Amino acid sequence: MKEMFQELGVSEQVQEMVKEAEEVLQPEFKKIDALAEYHSIKVLNAFHKYQISETHLGSTTGYGYDDIGRDTIEKVFAEVLGAEDCLVRNQFISGSHALTVAFFALLRPGDTLLSISGEPYDTLHEVIGIRENPSSLASFKVHYSQIDLINDNFDIEKIQSFLKEHKTKVIEIQRSKGYSTRKSISLEQIEEVIQKIREVDQDVIIMVDNCYCEFVSEYEPLQVGADIIVGSLIKNLGGGIAPNGAYIAGRKDLVALAADRLTVPGEGKEVGPSLGVNKLLLQGLFFAPTVVASSLKTAILASYLLEKLGYTVEPKVSDKRADIVQMITFGNPDDLIHYCQGIQMGSYVDAHSIPIPWDMPGYEDQVIMASGSFTQGSSIELSCDGPIRPPYIAYMQGALTYPAGKLGVMKAISYLLETKKV
Ligand SMILES: *Cc1c(COP(=O)(O)O)cnc(C)c1O
Repeated sequence: MKEMFQELGVSEQVQEMVKEAEEVLQPEFKKIDALAEYHSIKVLNAFHKYQISETHLGSTTGYGYDDIGRDTIEKVFAEVLGAEDCLVRNQFISGSHALTVAFFALLRPGDTLLSISGEPYDTLHEVIGIRENPSSLASFKVHYSQIDLINDNFDIEKIQSFLKEHKTKVIEIQRSKGYSTRKSISLEQIEEVIQKIREVDQDVIIMVDNCYCEFVSEYEPLQVGADIIVGSLIKNLGGGIAPNGAYIAGRKDLVALAADRLTVPGEGKEVGPSLGVNKLLLQGLFFAPTVVASSLKTAILASYLLEKLGYTVEPKVSDKRADIVQMITFGNPDDLIHYCQGIQMGSYVDAHSIPIPWDMPGYEDQVIMASGSFTQGSSIELSCDGPIRPPYIAYMQGALTYPAGKLGVMKAISYLLETKKV
């Protein structure tokens, strides 16, 4: 073991730190194991309810008519997410694409979209028209308004008075923090704000960007009153097995609108070839509870170790988590860059290509991204990234297995400490 760690470049100091950390963290890890078991039962019961069999592992080509695997997978996902209906498709390019399809499915010229969790995820700025784009919602005369969070909670007074004054078609809530410095939004907060929204508006469609949050809490937003939720399959629910895709789940009428927008008005869910992914999507959902658990354990381990080394972390070890993202504030660019580089060095794939900050399209500051993943850009696999701007925060997420996550963190911390010595 000693020699193997030496080969990997993990220092004895870090080995000792991790040993101590794992002892302290046992109670937290136990809770996470229980959560994984809970979600595994949920998935198993859904598989049984729809009698998943070998037939469902096959797939279609061409138009994709009568794809029994695809249609049954959508029922299973709906069951697991507490939805009336669900669209689970490899024709979605990404989570951002699914969010785009949902927006364009639900909003018409003259309608108003309101974000109540502050500025939405970066990739949605051109979709909404916050940043100019000739294909944005704004270019179709969809109005956009935004209410910021106050102290990491919804500004309920402002939301209620906005809804009383403005007929609003869709409210968007983003649970995960993205590249902001706020906390992620808990299910309890979602439940409360939905109650407050319904006091003043029965009709507004409540849509939740659920990226990174699936299987982290016991329930999903639909079960506390949301109308429609959206997420990526190269995050939590894909379990590291889904090669691409995303889902839209919720009210049947709204999912039908989304299906008509994704494919063809009038054809909706009836078309869309699965092209070999059915087995992978089912297997991904099968793995998802334990993969999310591995990600949570890795996040908690990193939270503990980096706080010990004097960095500010959010969430802290015993904070209740809403998603799989671990935020580490490094306070200087060098430590941020070295930690991300160390994560890459500890990856199974592309460990020898060292990431450097670059001008990514769509971002104002330079960004560094470590993702040595089997699936391109997959962030349910151990990955770490951050914009090069004060206070120099790294956003770390994922790990398909706990040992892989732990080794990645060990390598990253060893490298970080090494660079600080010289
Ligand atoms: C990942 C993510 C998305 C979608 O990102 P894609 O890379 O397009 O899949 C949207 N919102 C949040 C909060 C996310 O974390």
